[in-house]
This record gives sequence, C-alpha cells and structure tokens, in this order.
Amino acid sequence: MRIILFGPPGAGKGTQAKLIEEEFNIPQLSTGDMFRAAIKNQTTLGKKVKSIMDEGKLVPDDTVVELVEEALDAPEYANGYILDGFPRTVPQARAFDERLKKKGRKLNAFISLEVPDEELMKRILSRGEGRSDDTPEKVKVRLEVYNEETAPVINFYKQQGVYKEIDGMGTIEEIYGRIKAELTAG
Ligand code: AMP
Repeated sequence: MRIILFGPPGAGKGTQAKLIEEEFNIPQLSTGDMFRAAIKNQTTLGKKVKSIMDEGKLVPDDTVVELVEEALDAPEYANGYILDGFPRTVPQARAFDERLKKKGRKLNAFISLEVPDEELMKRILSRGEGRSDDTPEKVKVRLEVYNEETAPVINFYKQQGVYKEIDGMGTIEEIYGRIKAELTAG
C-alpha cells in the first residue's frame, strides 16, 4: 500500500504513521525526520536546510523531491510506504505523481488529518520534543506556511479521488481507529 499521511504541523502525522507502520508492516518515510538527521550529522544537506527549518519555512521543492526520489528507490519501499510530511506543495505533489506514473504505480490513500489551529498550537507547545522550530513564533510561521503553500495540495488529491478526510481530534487510539477503518474499507 502507498499512503500519504497529510495534515498541518501538530496534527499527529508522525504518531499515526508509526502505528500504521507497525500494524500494516509498511515503512514510513518522513522528510522532516530525514532533514533533522542530516542536520544532526552535519551533512551538506543538513547545512543547507538548517536555517530554513529553524525559521519554520519550507525547504526548496527540488531539494525535497530529489531526496524523496532517491530514498524511495531503496528496496525496503518497493512494496509500499507511508509518506509523512511529503508532498507539502503542489509542485512536490506533481513531481511525486509523475514518479508514480513512470513506475506504473498507484497511490492507495491520501489521509488528511483535520485539526483546528488552536489545538495545533497547544499540541506542539506541549509535546516537548525539544525541536528548535517548536516555539510559539516558529509555529505561527509554520501554520501560515501550511495554509498558504501546503493546504492547496488537498485539492490536487481530491481531483484524483484518493482523498480521505479524518477527524484528527480525540485520543491517539481513536484517531488511529478512524484511519484503520479507512485503510481496511472495501
Ligand atoms: P516536519 O517534521 O514534517 O514538521 O518538518 C519539519 C520541517 O522540515 C518543515 O518545517 C520544513 O522546514 C522541512 N520539511 C519537511 N518536509 C518538507 C517538505 N516536504 N517540503 C519542504 N520542507 C519540508
């Protein structure tokens, strides 16, 4: 199964991706985690993206697309994957769509986690992961960036007929239950 887990920062994408990964045995690929690892290891990519991430802005499309394309070529993703944090712009969605077409593959589901802005801010500020972009000012920028650049991705997938909206309020288990119901339906 190929799944995109979509939603604003703080919607619970990472948490839910891990639960899907465990139960359905599909590996997760998180662009945010990849960038954080690159920064930690002080790679060329890490040095390039550090200040962008610290500001709460988006890494340029070319860089992200290249990274994802390369990563997905690994054998572990041959039978499916869960994308967390990608695509985050319409050009990224187009590039990913091209890749799927080229490979003759289909996306099974685009799961959109819906959570109101006030709740997102609360969740991020209380999650205590020590992320440098989890401060109130940075979260504000990230939510603005989401609304302007990322939310339009929803329409792209609505047109493709794979869009599934999930209520992202409630406990982790409740939300996961809703996702699982979608993934196992018909
Ligand atoms: P995340 O862990 O998904 O919240 O991502 C953290 C940060 O990594 C974002 O605020 C961006 O700076 C960067 N990032 C992650 N994924 C992408 C992407 N698909 N496109 C652009 N920037 C990204």
